[in-house]
Amino acid sequence: MARKPGPGKCVHCLKQFGIRNWDHVFPRSWYPDSTPPNLEKWQIPTCKKCNSDYGKLEEELLVMLAMTVDPGGHASSGIYERALRSVNESLGKGKRARIARRAKREKVLRSFLFGNDIPTEGIYPGLGERWNIPISDQIAFPIPADNIRRFCEKNVRGITYRESGQFVEPPHQVDFFPINAQDAEPLEQMFDRHGRTYNRGPGFEVVRVVPYDEPLAAVFKITLFGEFVMYASISRLED
Ligand SMILES: [Zn+2]
Repeated sequence: MARKPGPGKCVHCLKQFGIRNWDHVFPRSWYPDSTPPNLEKWQIPTCKKCNSDYGKLEEELLVMLAMTVDPGGHASSGIYERALRSVNESLGKGKRARIARRAKREKVLRSFLFGNDIPTEGIYPGLGERWNIPISDQIAFPIPADNIRRFCEKNVRGITYRESGQFVEPPHQVDFFPINAQDAEPLEQMFDRHGRTYNRGPGFEVVRVVPYDEPLAAVFKITLFGEFVMYASISRLED
């Protein structure tokens, strides 16, 4: 996919552009080391601004998410090490890059919560303590909910374009719902029965259900690194 996509709409901001770029649906740097080398990494046409805005968001999110996934997991192999390298000052090429890496590292360290300061509510479903570590030895950190929502919406728009060639435009909208495994039960049954699964290596899996009478509407389950699950939908706003 070396050639540029040509003029048209940006999948994200829906504005018309003379020049667009290919942007990765799942960030290129997020594919774990266990990804088959010949796997096609989904790309979609976007404008330069959306591409760079999401690039920044994803860079920040990856450091956070990488610290919550199992460092020994097959679906997340190499992700933790990659995130650590991205905040390693000595690996920066040039003074500016080193300063940026240091700032990033300090920001991450400042956001850490330790032991009893860790809230018991608002833990992202599935990412809470799961290794039987006593509370006094636990470390947590806040991930802005809006960052996950934006990242999820980006994926939903990208997958819809990639699979149906459609832009998600008003009156349709994307909604993201962070829910725990119990509340997801009815959804899970629907995904099992009607969902189509798209596997992008062990690091990314998408299940999508499309109602036959409303082709743009859909429900999604997106699993990252075999652990991090996002549920989302595209629905039509009634006026
Ligand atoms: Zn755009």
